[in-house]
Amino acid sequence: MKFKKDFDVIVVGGGHAGTEAALAAARSGANTLLLSQNIETLGQMSCNPAIGGIGKGHLVKEIDALGGIMAKAIDLGGIQFRTLNASKGPAVRATRAQADRKLYKQAVLHTLENQPKLSLFQQTVADLIVEDGKVVGVKTQMGLDFRARAVVLTTGTFLAGKIHIGLQNYSGGRAGDPASVALAERLRELPFRIDRLKTGTPPRINGKTINFSKLAEQHGDTPRPVFSFMGNRGQHPRQVPCHITRTNERTHDIIRAGLDRSPLYSGVIEGIGPRYCPSIEDKVVRFADRNTHQIFVEPEGLDTHEIYPNGISTSLPFDVQYEFVRSMEGFENAEIIRPGYAIEYDFFDPRDLKMSLETKHMDGLFFAGQISGTTGYEEAAAQGLIAGLNAARLTQGLESWCPRRDEAYIGVMIDDLITCGTQEPYRMFTSRAEYRLILREDNADLRLTPKGRELGLVDDERWQAFETKRDAVTELQETLKKKWVRTESPQAERVAELWGTPLLKEANLMDLLRRPEIDMAQLLEFLDGGELIDEQVGEQVEIQAKYAGYIVRQQSDIDKVLRYDHLRLPETLDYQGVSGLSNEISQKLSAQRPETLGQASRIPGMTPAAVSLLLVYLKKKS
Ligand code: FAD
Repeated sequence: MKFKKDFDVIVVGGGHAGTEAALAAARSGANTLLLSQNIETLGQMSCNPAIGGIGKGHLVKEIDALGGIMAKAIDLGGIQFRTLNASKGPAVRATRAQADRKLYKQAVLHTLENQPKLSLFQQTVADLIVEDGKVVGVKTQMGLDFRARAVVLTTGTFLAGKIHIGLQNYSGGRAGDPASVALAERLRELPFRIDRLKTGTPPRINGKTINFSKLAEQHGDTPRPVFSFMGNRGQHPRQVPCHITRTNERTHDIIRAGLDRSPLYSGVIEGIGPRYCPSIEDKVVRFADRNTHQIFVEPEGLDTHEIYPNGISTSLPFDVQYEFVRSMEGFENAEIIRPGYAIEYDFFDPRDLKMSLETKHMDGLFFAGQISGTTGYEEAAAQGLIAGLNAARLTQGLESWCPRRDEAYIGVMIDDLITCGTQEPYRMFTSRAEYRLILREDNADLRLTPKGRELGLVDDERWQAFETKRDAVTELQETLKKKWVRTESPQAERVAELWGTPLLKEANLMDLLRRPEIDMAQLLEFLDGGELIDEQVGEQVEIQAKYAGYIVRQQSDIDKVLRYDHLRLPETLDYQGVSGLSNEISQKLSAQRPETLGQASRIPGMTPAAVSLLLVYLKKKS
C-alpha cells in the first residue's frame, strides 16, 4: 500500500540525529517526513541526562548557530548549568547542562510539531525502496510505502541491537524499545561495510533510598551559563544540585569477583566500546592501581526521584550490580529502578560516506548519528543537521555543504569520520581540532550563522539578533579604541590599582583590555553606560582583544593550508595513472576516493611525497 503523499526527504529515526535532520531539511524548504518507531520517544536521551561538555558543547553551539534545536531544548530543560575548564583559555571552555529528560523531550517535540513543511508519522521502517540503484522511499513494518527523493537513516543503536546484562542477552534497540531487525538484515544485503560496536549505561537508582547527607554537593555556576545564542536565563527551569560519591576497594573487589560472568570479559560481546566512557568493570581492570573512582550522582529530572549515577556504566549481572552499588558511600540502602546494561549494534564504516553524508554506494541515501560509528547526542545531532540539509539540497538540485576543519568542530568530526573511519565509538574532544583557538564556543555564531542564513537554515528572528550582536561588537571595539586614559588621571590611578604598577604612558581602553591583568568587567568602569553592555558582546570583544596575536597567527596557518587543502580531486581520477605513486598508496586512494587533496593527505599511511605528486598532477591537468 502506498501512502497518499510523496515527500522530498524522509528521515528515519527520531533520536538526536533524526530530529535535527528533519528540522534542517524542513527549514531548507524540503517537504519532509520524520518516521520513527514511537512518537513518545522523539528526542529521547538513551543514556545520561546531560548535554554538552568538552568538545561536545562546541558542537551544540554550532548546531545552534545553524538554527538547530539542541541548545534551545536544553535551555528549556536544563536543571544545572556549568562551564567546564572555566579557568583555562576560551578555546577549551565548554558548557555542560544537566537535563530534566521530560522537559528536554517536550521542547524537541514542541519544535517538531510546529515546524512548517514537516510531518511526523509513527511506524518502524523495515525496508528501503530502491530503483535503478537509487533509494526512492521506505517500506514500513505494516507494509506502507512512503516515497521520497532522499532518505536519511538515523537509527542509532537499534540496528540488530542486542542488550547484555551478565551472560543473558536479548534483542533490543535500547531498554524498553525493540531492535530494528528487518531493516538491519536488508542493509546487510547492500554493499556497505558493516561492523559491530557496543555502548553501556549504568543502573538507575531510587533517590529516596540514597543518603545524600553523606555526599558532597555540587551546584551549578554563577553566573549561570546559557546554551543558545537566542536563549536567556529566564527560560531555565528550577535549578538543582548534583552530588558526588566514590567507588572504594570493596566496590572493586565485588566487581573483580563478578568478572567471570561479565559479557565483556567472557567474550560474549564482540563490539568495541567507547574508550572515553568505559564501563566500571573496564575501569577497575584497566586502572588496577586506582582504588577509587569518582561517581556523579545526577538527578534525572525535577519531578522524579530517579538518579543517574554517572561513572558506573556496567553490563555485569544484576546481582553484582546490586551488591557493588550498595558498597558505595551514601548508597548503602540504594534500590535500583532500572538495571545497567550494554548494547551491541550494527554500524556502517563512515568511509563509505561523502562529505555531504550521502552514501557512496547508493544515491539519495544518507546516514547520520550512531549508525555512522559515533557516540553521543551532540555528535549525532551535528551529523543529523548536515545530512538533513544536504538531503534537502540534493532534491533541490543544489550543491551540498559541509563546514571545513577550520570552520567548525562539525567539519572536524565529519572529515575525521569519512577520511579515517573509526574502530571504536567516535566522540568529540577539543584536541581533535587543530584550529582550536578559532573554533571557540563563544564565536560559533560569528563563524556559522551567516552561512546558515545563506543556506536557508537561519530564520529572520535569529538573523536579526545576530546582526545586532555583530554590530554591537564592532561598535564596542571602536569605542574602546577611542577612549584614552591619560597618565596621572583618576582613571590612571584605578588602572595602577588593578594592575599593580603605574600607567607609564597614555593608553586607550582597547590597549588596556589586551593586558592579562584587566578584564572586561573592570574596564567597563571607565565607560559611560558600561553596565548596559550585553554580556555576550563584552565577552566577544574581550576574547578577540586578549588573543588577537594568536588568532592572527592561526588564521595565517589556515590560509597557508587552504591554498591546497580544498583542491578537488576528480571522482573518476585514475590513481594508477598518477606517475610516481606507489601501488599501495594508489590502491588506498582508489578505494577511498577522497574528495579533496586535504582529505587525501589525512588518509592514514599517506606520505607528504604522495600528496606532492597529486598536487603536481592536478596542476598539470588544470
Ligand atoms: P538514537 O538516539 O538511538 O535514536 C534512534 C532513533 O531511531 C530512535 O528514535 C528509534 O526509535 C528510531 N528507530 C530505530 N530504528 C527505526 C526504524 N527501523 N524505523 C523507525 N524508527 C527507528 N552516548 C554517550 O555519549 N555516552 C554514553 O555513555 C552513552 N551510553 C549509551 C548507553 C546506551 C545503553 C545507549 C542505548 C546509548 C548510549 N549512548 C551514549 C549513545 C547515545 O544515546 C547516542 O549516541 C545517541 O542517542 C545517538 O543518537 P542517534 O540519533 O544516532 O540515535
